[in-house]
Amino acid sequence: MPEFREAISSAMQREVRQRCGFGCVFCGKPFYDYDHIEEWSEVKEHEVDNLTLLCPEHHREKTNRLRSKEQVRIANANPFNRRNPSSSPYLLAYDGSSCTVSVGSNKFVQSIGPAYKEPLALNGEPLVKIRTEEGHLLLSAKLSDSSGSTILSIEENVLTYDTELWDVTFVANTLVVREGRRKVTAKIVFEPPSAITIERGYFSHEGLLVQVTPREIIEKKCNNIISGITVSDVPFVRGICITDAEHRGMVPPSTAAIRFITAPCVEVSR
Ligand SMILES: [Zn+2]
Repeated sequence: MPEFREAISSAMQREVRQRCGFGCVFCGKPFYDYDHIEEWSEVKEHEVDNLTLLCPEHHREKTNRLRSKEQVRIANANPFNRRNPSSSPYLLAYDGSSCTVSVGSNKFVQSIGPAYKEPLALNGEPLVKIRTEEGHLLLSAKLSDSSGSTILSIEENVLTYDTELWDVTFVANTLVVREGRRKVTAKIVFEPPSAITIERGYFSHEGLLVQVTPREIIEKKCNNIISGITVSDVPFVRGICITDAEHRGMVPPSTAAIRFITAPCVEVSR
């Protein structure tokens, strides 16, 4: 008679992810399988303490007996991503010399050279920026949570995230951060070689906070909304620049394609 094997419940999966710091217990990679340390065929049940996260490489080593159960148990007790406040660095495969950055229905399409282009800047600080080096597209971005603390960064294609978050999943090419049940803090779709879509998230710098939803960028201080703008191959360093009144001098009109100054939000130049 075939054996019935129930799926691991989503609550149990999340508990395992949280305990393991959202990555393989050996190397911290964000792609993993839920592994039964004592094989399921032996225990025939899902027990949260018997589950761990292994990346495909380390999972195969365990299957091939190149890692013992005992070694897995030791790694599970002290997961790689739990030894640091941020996750194991993951290198994104961006390439070439053009880039499409989408942020809340706004698009920045640009050919890129060795000098930085800055699709999104707050109070003069670029929070998404791109340049090329020897044919590689190097993408950087810094996202916050709703209180403005940094939770995720991409530094020249190297992705890391806070391992103390409530939940992080990286399924196919989509990274989702949650701060509670049905509370999505960030959702990013990576489409190398040249595209990134920030569908949800927060950006913050020196008193300014913006929330990104699939339809818009919402500047939280005055509830100004920026949506549906396409900036395509402009001769400016910056794409969308949002500043408050105190920082307006930091962004001269000649440097940005779209320049918003809050309170009240005025689209000054494009
Ligand atoms: Zn691994």
